[in-house]
Amino acid sequence: MNILRTSNLYKVYGDGDASVHALRPTEIRIDKGEFVIVVGPSGSGKTTLLNLLAGLDKPTGGNVHIKGQNIFDMSETDLTIFRRKNIGFVFQFFNLLPILSLEENVVLPLLLDKKDIDWTYIDELLEILGIKDRRRHLPGALSGGQQQRAAIARALCMKPSIIFADEPTGNLDTKSSNEVMELFKNSVKKYNQTLVMITHNPEISKFADRVLFIEDGMVSNGKVIG
Ligand code: ADP
Ligand code: MG
Repeated sequence: MNILRTSNLYKVYGDGDASVHALRPTEIRIDKGEFVIVVGPSGSGKTTLLNLLAGLDKPTGGNVHIKGQNIFDMSETDLTIFRRKNIGFVFQFFNLLPILSLEENVVLPLLLDKKDIDWTYIDELLEILGIKDRRRHLPGALSGGQQQRAAIARALCMKPSIIFADEPTGNLDTKSSNEVMELFKNSVKKYNQTLVMITHNPEISKFADRVLFIEDGMVSNGKVIG
């Protein structure tokens, strides 16, 4: 079953001579449980694509269906609630709130959704991600790798069915990057989640079930970008 599909999804920034075709009309289908990596060079349209898939940005045209629902047909309020309940997003630059501890950052989506916090699950997440002993620290006192793990924990805490990650290893050294990828892969498998990750690093694609390529806003299946 497709958990996500796009039809004729495209994005143009600006108009006239200044227009940028950041994403050409795109048809993507992703099955529940799949781990898909989208690889492409800088400026190829990766962030544009991911933000559209996650409903963080509006397309110039076309649709995104998640769990059979057209996300751009929803009101802003409904989309916000839908995203919080179904979608986890890991930003490239973490987006942790500096005045909240690691743990407070992680459980924030649960508080916003007025959910009871399942501390057993949160403990397990922090354990899997190797940041349990850092839970009381402020983001400023954490390494880049630890902040990224916290951002991943925050994305996973609502047990979303689909997770989008924008270059989650972009700021990490090779060792931390491989660790984060392993942790991602394991937790996603364990909780039967779907993961769509973008990267400019072709090395990372070995972790995926399927690799898509993007170049000049065009998404393709098999092309190796040299
Ligand atoms: P990537 O994430 O692969 O580096 P982006 O999706 O950020 O690529 O950008 C794709 C193209 O769209 C680039 O040419 C970029 O300059 C352009 N672009 C991105 N965001 C905007 C914007 N808000 N306004 C105008 N052009 C943009
Ligand atoms: Mg980007």
